[in-house]
Formats: sequence, structure tokens, C-alpha cells
Amino acid sequence: MALRVVFSFLVVAFSTTGWAQGGSSAIDFLNANYVSIAQSELRRCSNRTSPTLGPELATYVTVAQAKVITGNFLPHCEVALTFDDGPHPVYGPQIVKILQAQNVHANFFQVGENVARYPNVTLMEYHAGEVIGTHTWSHPDLQRLTFAQGSQQIEKAFDEVTQILHVYTPFFRYPYGASTPEIRAYLAHFGRVTFFWNVDTLDWKIHDPVQLYRYALTQVDQVQRGIILMHEIHPQTVIMLPYLLDALRRAGYQPILFKPGQQTALTLHAS
Ligand SMILES: [Zn+2]
Repeated sequence: MALRVVFSFLVVAFSTTGWAQGGSSAIDFLNANYVSIAQSELRRCSNRTSPTLGPELATYVTVAQAKVITGNFLPHCEVALTFDDGPHPVYGPQIVKILQAQNVHANFFQVGENVARYPNVTLMEYHAGEVIGTHTWSHPDLQRLTFAQGSQQIEKAFDEVTQILHVYTPFFRYPYGASTPEIRAYLAHFGRVTFFWNVDTLDWKIHDPVQLYRYALTQVDQVQRGIILMHEIHPQTVIMLPYLLDALRRAGYQPILFKPGQQTALTLHAS
């Protein structure tokens, strides 16, 4: 209960002073509480110690290696951070700052029409070192579309991101994780790598940041590896993120970042 009250204060501090300034007594108080929560709930994963969660390991993915990435294959204690549905003009930059403070990067899967609306956010994230994949043009359930509509949704988003970044990254994630056999074959044929997740924070559903933090920890703790699904567009994710990263660091996790293999990028851009 007490934490809830502090959190509403934090949200005010957050919106008026900005995340970067931090350091207020409210944040210190919150931090102290989070430390005790984290220590009681996240099992120690390895003996790795570091002042930040990063630097992350880069995992280069080519189509020849893997067409579908689920996260279960990652070694014990290695986690990848992923953010869907952006770019978001406010939360995107805040997430990047939080990642920078922990010396890590993340894989983003962005919605084409949002990229068209906020191209500078996508561009900033890319230049900050984040890897930008796509997530269709307008986030439909591809199972409810015809094949022609679905492939158009996919290509339009890839075109938009490629045009803005001047670089083609063949990384894709299905909205809702929903695909069809035809769309899967299509993506594979054109050399796209599709990403799923094996740690779902449910950050779209859990609005209370403390609850979200605790839930995320239990999900990570269950498998102790893999791809963590989060979203770029929810304030509770931004508030919870520094504490999640800190808990991962203290438990000895190694962050990883998926990057496109060079051959894939060059070959596909030509077609
Ligand atoms: Zn989504």
C-alpha cells in the first residue's frame, strides 16, 4: 500500500522533472524498497558482477542460422530485452536513457504507422545503438487478414523503417504472436527472421509498476534465460524498467542483443 502511494508521487516527479534528473528522495525511497523486493524474489543466477547490467553480448542472427527465434535456446542467465509497438515520442527516449544508464541495448519491434508519425524517435533510437525491427504497418492480427493484406502490412513497415534508417534489418515480430502458414513461408522465403519471446511481462495489462515489477521478476526467475517481452508505449514499463535492469544486474544476468548478420542484410536489401 505504502509503495503505491510513493509511486503516484514518482509519476508526478517523473513528468515534471524528467527521468534523467532522478535522484529525488522519492526515487531513493523507492529504490530502497525495490532492493529489498528484488533480493527476496530473484534467485541468484551467476557469479557475474558488474557495476551495470551491460555491456551486452551481441548475438548475430542470419537466416541460415535461425528463422524463428523463441528465446528458449539462450544459455542459462542470458536475457534479451525487447520493446514492441513504438516508437513513442515520450517513452521511447526515456527507455533509451534508462538502457544507457545500464550500458545495454535492446531489440525494438516497431509499428510502421508509428514510425511514419515519429521518424525522429526511431532514428534517435537507432543512432543510440538499439536494433530496430518491424511489427507490421498498423498492428493487425495477421490471422484475420488475407495473405495479400498481410504481406502488404509487412512490406509497408519494412519499407518505412528502411527508408528512414537507410539500413535494412530483416527482424520481424507478429502482432499478438499470431501468424499463418502462408505468412510464415513468405517471411522465410524473403529471409526475414521472426522473433517470439519466452518471458512475458504482461506490461500492457499490469498498470501498477510495483505489481508489474514483481510479476516480471517471477517470469524471469522461472526460466532464467530468454527473450523478455515489453512495450515501448506504456508508462508503467518505463517506471519499472530501471529496477528490473538493476535486479537482473544484481542477480548476475548477462544481457544479449540480437543483431542482423551482414550477409542477410546485404543480400536482402538488393532484392
Ligand atoms: Zn505488438
